[in-house]
Amino acid sequence: MAVKIQEGFALFSKRMDAKAYIESEDESLDNMESQKILEIKRERDERKRKLLFDNLDLILRHRDEIMKTPRYAKIDAHYALRGGGAYIGPIAMRRRFCAAGVSVTVGITLGSLLEIWGTATYKVNCSCGNTAYIRSFGGSPLTGMSVAGAVCPHCKNEIHGIRSRPFGDYVRQVLNALDREKAAVSQAFTSGVFGKFSEQCSLEKMISELKLREI
Ligand SMILES: [Zn+2]
Repeated sequence: MAVKIQEGFALFSKRMDAKAYIESEDESLDNMESQKILEIKRERDERKRKLLFDNLDLILRHRDEIMKTPRYAKIDAHYALRGGGAYIGPIAMRRRFCAAGVSVTVGITLGSLLEIWGTATYKVNCSCGNTAYIRSFGGSPLTGMSVAGAVCPHCKNEIHGIRSRPFGDYVRQVLNALDREKAAVSQAFTSGVFGKFSEQCSLEKMISELKLREI
């Protein structure tokens, strides 16, 4: 956040003479680049979120295989769910912690997301007769009231205004998933198998591979 500095003309002239700029050109370039990077990351998360929900039926058809395949299960999916509460703000889908002296960020992975969607809290009946999955929720930690939105992978229908379940149930599933992710990374660090653990695949690559398998 920008800090507003009250400065008189005399002090300004003295500072200019000393070339003591409040923000140097290099600093402002650096800030500009950071802003651009953040913007690109936001756009990327949006694109991936759309891709994930556009292919939700394909992903759910291969649920068991994804859960059993670490390079699929570990795909970052922190952007899929959106939650927030009164007084507490957005629910973080990522968590930073220190493992063996190294700062590590864990987030909701595709495997975690499928586990969360496996719980009754995150499932709702769609009018087409199939199951829809909750992807956004809001509520109050004080009253426990909530309102959620879901999408049906079969008919692509969006369901709004789901109010039948406590806010805490949604949050608990996310926190439990992040606890599991953290425990898995800590375990990988301490047992020295992190290289194997971190073998990666992208959401895009996985979708291509799954589509090829269905031809
Ligand atoms: Zn439906």
